[in-house]
Amino acid sequence: MKRSKKKKIKLTNTAKMIFGVLLIGILLCTLTFYHKDKTIEFEVHEIREEDNYTLKIDYPEIENKVVAEQATEYITNKKEEFLADAKKLKEVTETKCDLSITYTLDELFDYNALHVNVYSYMGGAHYNKEEKSYYFNPETGEEITIENFLEEGKLEDLANLAYYYTIENYKDNEKEYDEEWIKEGTSAKLENYSHFNLTKDGLELHFTYYQVGPYSDGEVSIIIPEEELAGIVKEEYLSIKSEPVDVNSPTKRDLSEFEGKKLLAFTFDDGPSDGPTNKLLDNLDKYNARVTFFVLGSRVNTYQNSLKRAYEMGNTIGSHTYSHLNLFKLGDYEIMKEINDTNDRVEKILGITPKYLRAPYGNTNEHIRELSNMYSILWDIDTEDWRYKDAEKIKDNIVKHAHDGAIILLHDIYGTSIDGALLAMEELKDEYAFVSLDEMIKLKGITLDKNKSYFSF
Ligand code: ZN
Repeated sequence: MKRSKKKKIKLTNTAKMIFGVLLIGILLCTLTFYHKDKTIEFEVHEIREEDNYTLKIDYPEIENKVVAEQATEYITNKKEEFLADAKKLKEVTETKCDLSITYTLDELFDYNALHVNVYSYMGGAHYNKEEKSYYFNPETGEEITIENFLEEGKLEDLANLAYYYTIENYKDNEKEYDEEWIKEGTSAKLENYSHFNLTKDGLELHFTYYQVGPYSDGEVSIIIPEEELAGIVKEEYLSIKSEPVDVNSPTKRDLSEFEGKKLLAFTFDDGPSDGPTNKLLDNLDKYNARVTFFVLGSRVNTYQNSLKRAYEMGNTIGSHTYSHLNLFKLGDYEIMKEINDTNDRVEKILGITPKYLRAPYGNTNEHIRELSNMYSILWDIDTEDWRYKDAEKIKDNIVKHAHDGAIILLHDIYGTSIDGALLAMEELKDEYAFVSLDEMIKLKGITLDKNKSYFSF
């Protein structure tokens, strides 16, 4: 009797355990799927800041769902790897790790290229960088490789040209090179040609870190001119004409109406975006406001309509670098690349080069200011909008700290940030004029100095 009772209890416990495990399992599965769905459907931008790491991810907001899902899966894996590594490192070092994942969507004549860039910093001298490109037909989603653009069996010929032009590239830059390394990195294998663009100048090939030389050589890009490509690239892909820049000159305001008024500069980082940026632009006239956008080079192609619109309305366009990396952890070559690539992309779309730079996290110094040769603009009102995602709280923060000449930091990737900014404008509109940086500097009669960082005016 006793024995069987004991047995019964034991069984019950086992049953309870099985039940418990099942319940936890079901719960975890639900959470995981919920989270996955959420990531794909809603969360297009993720920022986290913990004691031991910072993380910033742009998930692809692109129409082709198949490619978006593939890229999101790749990104999610990279994120999980990073979080696991950061957790391990936390036990042994004080290093603050960083993960930045950005993407660029290039819409080319009849195919799209999605380039996902993963930068992770786990201590040491530099970021690790990985790039994954997806080429696809935007209508069918069908995957495209460089072979789709080549005449039958011409990869070998392309490889010979690539080898020659890579060596020329090294010679032009007066850099040493390793012929064997280049031969291997340009050999006729598809994986050596996974980053390319057909442009009006020819075929642009992009070799990643270590592909044709040591890390210090960085990424190597070459252009094989169009005249070399006859018989190699299919006829219909040669002579691609670039789209003409189609931008109106920005509207200029008569600043005399603001003279003697208190001034506020609302600034928006990390964009442009589709929804939030346009919502802001839709409402600026209501408050007779103009603002400033510090854009990420990686995003300007994808959201070029928002960028053009912002610029044409007379808002100031500044640079927030290409991939939002911590510039303190980069070498000079990489810092310049972050800055130049952004300026080049903005110039291609707007025909102007940004002159204001806002370093990510405000991490700038004398050396970076000197390298950049741009005006360094920081902020003195930090709304922490990305943390709160609460329009009322963001509004309160602005209203409470507003003063003449203030520079307010916000992000035009969150609807709540835009709502908060507009609520603040509503409350402050009688007391303040809302001006762009260009306007602020003119109205204050300031001659900017490239050796300084500005927090307010
Ligand atoms: Zn930022």
